[in-house]
Amino acid sequence: MDKRDFMKKSIALGASLISVPAFSEKHIFNNKHDSSILAVNGSKQSFEQIKLPYSYDSLEPYIDAATMKLHYSAHHAAYTANLNKAATEEKILNKSIEEIFKNVSHYSSSVRNNGGGFYNHNLFWQCMTPGGKKLSSGSFKRILEATFGSFDEFKNQFSQKAATVFGSGWAWLIEREGKLYITSTPNQDNPLMDVVSEKGNPLLALDVWEHAYYLKYQNRRADYISAFWNVIDWDFVESRLG
Ligand code: MN
Repeated sequence: MDKRDFMKKSIALGASLISVPAFSEKHIFNNKHDSSILAVNGSKQSFEQIKLPYSYDSLEPYIDAATMKLHYSAHHAAYTANLNKAATEEKILNKSIEEIFKNVSHYSSSVRNNGGGFYNHNLFWQCMTPGGKKLSSGSFKRILEATFGSFDEFKNQFSQKAATVFGSGWAWLIEREGKLYITSTPNQDNPLMDVVSEKGNPLLALDVWEHAYYLKYQNRRADYISAFWNVIDWDFVESRLG
């Protein structure tokens, strides 16, 4: 079912649609936004950080420039470099990161941790934009509201999930077989990995590692989570549905 059909059915069926599969399987592990991040270079496979779509200081005051710079140019760069090193050493060739995640239990912990770190941050940067972009009043908003009761209730549940990740990890809004779920993963795991119990297509990602907020918010993770709502790019999140 393509998006146009999906939207038509949404309009026809309203909230009842959330109980039936609405998206084809191919969307789950084959997202158009992710295909550009794989580069195969001769016998060497290299994964590339996306170019940050805004300047380090442009998410101020919600996410500070110093954090953005360190997070992108040091943390994310290191995950990416270490993934490429592991992929070379383990002779992983001609595989997309999504293919690797589907069988990540068969790879080394370096591939799992750095692969997750590489992919999750590429997604996270795109989930944000200076000033944020509002959720448009289309079928996606209706499904979100039908699933969680209201946008505010979704916000509460997502924030709660992010706040209660023990130690380092991520909070997610995912889609699986046409339904939306809020989940979390430890470390750099993500919902595309075979090792994760709640799998799906990640739509919205929030990094709750201390490195994502400690410079500005110190131990106040809840304040960082509140700030995140001001910079979310809902156009991008919605576009993840394919
Ligand atoms: Mn991070």
